[in-house]
Amino acid sequence: MSICAQCRTAEAAIEDRDVQPPQPWCLACATALVRAGDPVINYRSFGDPDQYGPVLVGGSTAVLRFR
Ligand SMILES: [Zn+2]
Repeated sequence: MSICAQCRTAEAAIEDRDVQPPQPWCLACATALVRAGDPVINYRSFGDPDQYGPVLVGGSTAVLRFR
């Protein structure tokens, strides 16, 4: 299991394939990117089941919802 390239403490949940070499992200850092409006789209999931997919979908929905 890879360690997150951002915080360097958590285990990576996904691997960003848009960069070379592919960069590992933990779920927390990947979620922060979704919230920031810069989600990782082209990724490979380390988890089974994929934990990041629902975050990506939910995060996008949350952005569109005004409350
Ligand atoms: Zn991290």
